[in-house]
Amino acid sequence: MNQNWHGTLIRHLLLLVSASLLAGLVSGHYGGCLAIGLGLYLAWTLKQLLRLHEWLRHHTPDEPPPDGYGLWGDVFDSIYHLQRRDQRVRGRLQAVIDRVQESTAALRDAVIMLDSEGNLEWWNRAAETLLGLKTPQDSGQPVTNLVRHPRFKEYFEQANYAEPLEIPSPASDRMRIQMLITRYGNNEHLMLVRDVTRLHQLEQMRKDFVANVSHELRTPLTVICGYLETLLDNVEEVNPRWSRALQQMQQQGERMQTLLNDLLLLAKLEATDYPSDNHPVAIAPLLKSITHDAQALSGSKNQQITLAIEDEVSLKGSEAELRSAFSNLIFNAVKYTPADGTIRIRWWADGRGAHLSVQDSGIGIDTKHIPRLTERFYRVDSSRASNTGGTGLGLAIVKHVLLRHRGALEINSVLGKGSLFICNFAPAQMTKP
Ligand code: ADP
Repeated sequence: MNQNWHGTLIRHLLLLVSASLLAGLVSGHYGGCLAIGLGLYLAWTLKQLLRLHEWLRHHTPDEPPPDGYGLWGDVFDSIYHLQRRDQRVRGRLQAVIDRVQESTAALRDAVIMLDSEGNLEWWNRAAETLLGLKTPQDSGQPVTNLVRHPRFKEYFEQANYAEPLEIPSPASDRMRIQMLITRYGNNEHLMLVRDVTRLHQLEQMRKDFVANVSHELRTPLTVICGYLETLLDNVEEVNPRWSRALQQMQQQGERMQTLLNDLLLLAKLEATDYPSDNHPVAIAPLLKSITHDAQALSGSKNQQITLAIEDEVSLKGSEAELRSAFSNLIFNAVKYTPADGTIRIRWWADGRGAHLSVQDSGIGIDTKHIPRLTERFYRVDSSRASNTGGTGLGLAIVKHVLLRHRGALEINSVLGKGSLFICNFAPAQMTKP
């Protein structure tokens, strides 16, 4: 191509010079004719340059460059080929984009692209059904304006997307959606939303079933325990052979009652996402009262139970729920620490929030059990739990109460050395008494 261009240019210049010299020979003015020839060539070149400039400025994407002759014809041809190649590449890319958009549009899950500020950039059709987004009005709107659930706002602003979030759909109260956010590129977000109504209904059925069974069992059990108590109150009138059996029946009856109460409490905790109250709860007197009960539970075990209140901060939430969680942790420490052991309870606040730690010098827990401890009915050793009268629901209750109070449970333990349970509450949950 380059060779061609040079050849054409040299041929044209030679032709021009020869024509000018010929005109000079005829007229006798060599210099003048050469100057006129070169001037004409320059004017023609300038004209082509102006045509190119005009085309570059005003052409539509499909308009070919102007026709030309000689060297300029080659230049215009090359531009035309570049333009065609570019059109073909663009066409192929558009086809890929169209296919990706078509396939994501056909997805039953919603896909939403957000910019670094959290504004809506693009979404598929399912997003309109699951989140009620409107095309194109909602484009550029902040996602938190359109999904207004308080938990979503908190989840989005916290920017910790390790766990998915489940909330009712803004499009319909009867629909339940699960959201998963991933960050990519320049802090842009990709949001995936699934319809989990069916799963949620099944889960709800399970919870309702457990709550109903527990509730139904409570009345007959109260009657049985009541009669057993009456019989044991008049134990001298009962055949001595039955007295031990009756005592055991009463013990097991009481265990069943605690179990049912714990199951009902868990069902109540699972029914909503937030604590039943949102008053400031003074933690210091609450811990003092639980420590007092713990001393009574410890009884003759001669355990040393200490309470250190380092900050007088209160927590927003429900006193009954917090009492239940804290007493579960503190009573566990008493139950799982042998005689003469120590139990240290500490309440303090710092930049990361408020914290309660319960440390004991008890039997400890093997590391492999720690991740599963907060599961319902999970016990490290079932024989050990039945000795202590535990239900296996205590730590599940603690976990749920903490979740509802923007808190998390941290467990550290060394087998044979003791355990440390820490409840960490977010600064937003703290309040002054
Ligand atoms: P339980 O009612 O059986 O105590 P929890 O849910 O409260 O049930 O605790 C689950 C299990 O975790 C217990 O069975 C026990 O084995 C273990 N555990 C809880 N707290 C402690 C502790 N302070 N020290 C040692 N083991 C503990």
